[in-house]
Amino acid sequence: MRTGIGFDFHRLVEQRALVLGGVSIPWEKGLLGHSDADALIHAVCDAILGAAGLGDIGVHFPDTDPRFKGISSLALLQSTQRMLDEKGLCVVNVDAVVLADAPQMAPHRLQMQNNIARALDIPPTAVNIKATTTEGCGMIGRGEGIGAMATVLLRLKCSKGDT
Ligand code: MG
Repeated sequence: MRTGIGFDFHRLVEQRALVLGGVSIPWEKGLLGHSDADALIHAVCDAILGAAGLGDIGVHFPDTDPRFKGISSLALLQSTQRMLDEKGLCVVNVDAVVLADAPQMAPHRLQMQNNIARALDIPPTAVNIKATTTEGCGMIGRGEGIGAMATVLLRLKCSKGDT
């Protein structure tokens, strides 16, 4: 068994779509970044890469590479899953928390879990997404950005339905 953590933060700006967990969330601002800036998926990718001893998301998907401009981060998660596969590892479970004072994440939680589970080829019950606010404090509380944290557990390749 191997465990990993991931953290990410992106700035909220006007005239960008807000995408978290692969879900397009209607909101007055979106996250700024080279890809779709999906902080939740980036935190999950980093947790997986860390657990697998494969560095971090910047090593594999640099924000200077035009191939990743505007890309859906779900595609990055699928690529991460393929790297795991090649190492004979698979994800046991993902637990993550989105840090945002607004908008509400609750209506989108299930879809986020399903999107992540599908990209990782694991059951949706193996993915848990939570959300919290910072009660108006700091850069998150002021609506300047959204953060996400994730942990994952990996194990040697399991057969389907094992988790
Ligand atoms: Mg990021």
